[in-house]
Amino acid sequence: GEEEKKKRGELFEVPEIKFTKLFINGSFVDAASGRTFETRDPRTGDVIATVAEADKVDVDSAVRAARDAFDHGEWPRMSGSERGRIIARFADLVEQHADELAALESLDAGKHPAITKAVDFGNALGSLRYFAGAADKIHGETLKMQAQFQGYTLREPLGVAGIIIPWNFPSTMFAIKVAPALAAGCAMVVKPAEQTPLSALYFAHLAKQAGIPDGVINVVPGFGSTAGAALASHMDVDMVTFTGSTEVGRLIMKASAESNLKPVYLELGGKSPLIIFDDADLDMAVELAVSANFVNKGEACVAASRVYVQERIYSRFEEKLAERMKSWVVGDPFSDPRADQGPQVDKVQYERVLSYIDHGKREGATLLTGGRPCGQKEKGYYIEPTVFTNVKEDMVIAKEEIFGPVMCLMKFKTVEEAIARANDTRHGLGAGVVTRDLDVANRVVRAVRAGVVWVNCYFALGSDCPFGGRKMSGFGKDEGMHALDKYLALKSVVTPLRASPW
Ligand code: ADP
Repeated sequence: GEEEKKKRGELFEVPEIKFTKLFINGSFVDAASGRTFETRDPRTGDVIATVAEADKVDVDSAVRAARDAFDHGEWPRMSGSERGRIIARFADLVEQHADELAALESLDAGKHPAITKAVDFGNALGSLRYFAGAADKIHGETLKMQAQFQGYTLREPLGVAGIIIPWNFPSTMFAIKVAPALAAGCAMVVKPAEQTPLSALYFAHLAKQAGIPDGVINVVPGFGSTAGAALASHMDVDMVTFTGSTEVGRLIMKASAESNLKPVYLELGGKSPLIIFDDADLDMAVELAVSANFVNKGEACVAASRVYVQERIYSRFEEKLAERMKSWVVGDPFSDPRADQGPQVDKVQYERVLSYIDHGKREGATLLTGGRPCGQKEKGYYIEPTVFTNVKEDMVIAKEEIFGPVMCLMKFKTVEEAIARANDTRHGLGAGVVTRDLDVANRVVRAVRAGVVWVNCYFALGSDCPFGGRKMSGFGKDEGMHALDKYLALKSVVTPLRASPW
């Protein structure tokens, strides 16, 4: 039936593009400069839309609108349950338009529409509904304090949030940051990535329909060094939450330090280890390694790009992996619903990944599979899923985040060695362990320095599961109740126990 076809992606059509302007104070408007930029279809490199390009002037107007909505508007002042009701309505509208949104997102980012609907929008909806439910559960504590005093804490909406998101999971990122900000009662300015501005604008339209007041959500597509930087250094923005590269994370902190010292929260790159012990179910382990590296064409900050396999099963694992990759399909996600992997998001990323692959070859790693571009008729940013073996820890491909379909396979002997090598990185985002031995699993879980550890699974996340890294993978959590803290100011209030203690 229809649903079956939809699951396979056969009913998704390339959508019409409806929203291409900046969304400021509840209206779609041109950039003050009149400038636009192009967003392209990664399957062909062709332009799919020209989008209004925000720069500093537009970010200023968006922040002014948010400031006004926060300082004088009803959003932070209405009851939590009323805010929750409106966020839930927003979620319902997103769900009603999920087919179109998933197709739009897939067109902009080179994704598979059926998977995008199930996963990206599944997560986005999960987050909107979770925080709709959280909006009336924000409360402080009572403090006994010392003899003559008592106190309590208030958790107040922080103010204007700056939200800067990347291109790999644009809708999920939008929702996991906007939903808690809304629940907390903040107003916000969202800067989507220049590669993928379309879904955020569609979200803005739905937010207005849902009844979120004008100025509470503003969306300013544009480039990082102009629009993004203007937001990060704005004197009237009260916090910034950012997901993206480690280099830009550094710039965001600097911008805060040099402006108003706004708190910043960073979810940055990773080089996450997946450790497979010799008692593992081999088929499952292969499947986990494959999905942990090649899902979303490897454009995932938690991709398990370092796969450690214990000596005794190493060669069997290698064989099975090579065999498995023969049935992995790279192709146009719209015309070939069987495609497991679409094109990289843009030319820059495509060339970057290919240059890492070249680097790996020159460093002396061996190609087990892939290693070449595979566009159709020389078009599109497609790359073969690539597995390197004979990888040494000090090679660039084992150290730096590649952000593409490239797996490094390495061999280890003992638990201690695996833990030491897993932790021998500047990053600390995710980690995975595959074993049937609970003791071994627990040892790895406790010892590995990462924000999330998966045991006999990978990539499993959810709206109640805090997500965010350690070390140079950043700090601060998206999802789960902890995520609310970023958007709330904790205020302590102290009163005397008796009317006049003196
Ligand atoms: P990637 O390397 O994955 O493209 P980036 O870190 O460059 O990720 O981009 C993530 C987001 O940060 C995008 O929205 C981008 O426009 C924005 N960005 C890039 N440079 C800056 C900057 N200097 N200040 C603020 N935001 C930026």
